[in-house]
Amino acid sequence: MSPSPFGLPDLRFVTTGEHPLWDEALAAVNRDLAVTLPEQRPLCLVAHPGLDGDEEDERVHVGFPDGYSHGNPLWRAGSGAGALRVVAEAAQETVTERLWQAWPVCTLHGLGMHVTEDAARPSWWCAGASRPGDPAHVRAAIGEMDTVHRPRRPNRKRRKPR
Ligand SMILES: [Zn+2]
Repeated sequence: MSPSPFGLPDLRFVTTGEHPLWDEALAAVNRDLAVTLPEQRPLCLVAHPGLDGDEEDERVHVGFPDGYSHGNPLWRAGSGAGALRVVAEAAQETVTERLWQAWPVCTLHGLGMHVTEDAARPSWWCAGASRPGDPAHVRAAIGEMDTVHRPRRPNRKRRKPR
């Protein structure tokens, strides 16, 4: 058997500064990840080369530090607020698929949230409860989950270290 010319190409980690807008967007998403899933290490940008190894064709994904990613690549069109939305959605795909759990979750309703651009800034949106008076709501701007994720319940039980 000869080696396949279409063998799985090596992925590479994108260097900081190659895609500054995505770096910035990912930093915001990683802040939310750190608050909501503190056991996870920060996500990073992972590039898969094009089929012929052409760097021009490479596809950049939001991945775990071991290179795992899932879902659609980021597209070069993503810029500004659009980049934040695109990166947040890509991060959500990767995290959700890897961990088999909704992320991020609204702590008020226990529901997985979605990116919305209906707010002043790209934000995490929750569908709310189905009962009247508890409608869909914007939970937090992307990158600012820490503003709503600090539990105020004094009786919250914590696992004490040994
Ligand atoms: Zn909610």
